[in-house]
Amino acid sequence: MPSPSAADPGRNPHPTNQRWILTTVRTILANPRYTGHQVWNRQRTDHDLIDPANTSLGHRDVMRWNAPTDWIISTTPAHTALVSEADFVTVQHTRAARQTAPGRTYTLAGLLRCAMCGRRMDSHWTHRPAYRCRHGHSSATPPLPHRTPNAYIREDQVLPRLPALIIRLTDHAAELNETAAPPTPAAAVEYLRAESISMIFDPTTRTLTADTPQGERIAID
Ligand SMILES: [Zn+2]
Repeated sequence: MPSPSAADPGRNPHPTNQRWILTTVRTILANPRYTGHQVWNRQRTDHDLIDPANTSLGHRDVMRWNAPTDWIISTTPAHTALVSEADFVTVQHTRAARQTAPGRTYTLAGLLRCAMCGRRMDSHWTHRPAYRCRHGHSSATPPLPHRTPNAYIREDQVLPRLPALIIRLTDHAAELNETAAPPTPAAAVEYLRAESISMIFDPTTRTLTADTPQGERIAID
């Protein structure tokens, strides 16, 4: 099967872009439009200051992904479905919890987003599980000089802090019932996945903010 750009060379005449690449497959698998429903508000345009220290330089428009909780999905099918909704949901869970190499398990895969660019953080093994964001740069595109440093956090820096976040998310229920034990880190991860709550990591303040209307926040060592 030709890749989308090979099937439509007029849209993308560059020959090296006409093969299937991982990001194309990933984008298709994550696109809820293939369930037959119309989806709006997946992306937004932010008007960021070009340089916060020099406002006279003005603004630039930056496209960012909205969290799935902000997507607007038509209640009735808008076109022929290519995958069932059940298959679509299964694929999202498979992608989130995948093992990228034998023995390398990323408990928080898919749950962390980068505050600087809004992207989902990549699982990255450095002797132990960790997560990083290269803000859209990849090994195929050499890094530019003076670009924003990667965001980086180790899993063992996050897990012990998660029970505190869950207590805040669940409306301090544990404080009201003094006999209730605080959630374990594993239970905390399970809760976040079940509720589809991702956490936004800000490398400058070393904080994790829940992607919820209240924006519950915890500090990371
Ligand atoms: Zn980023």
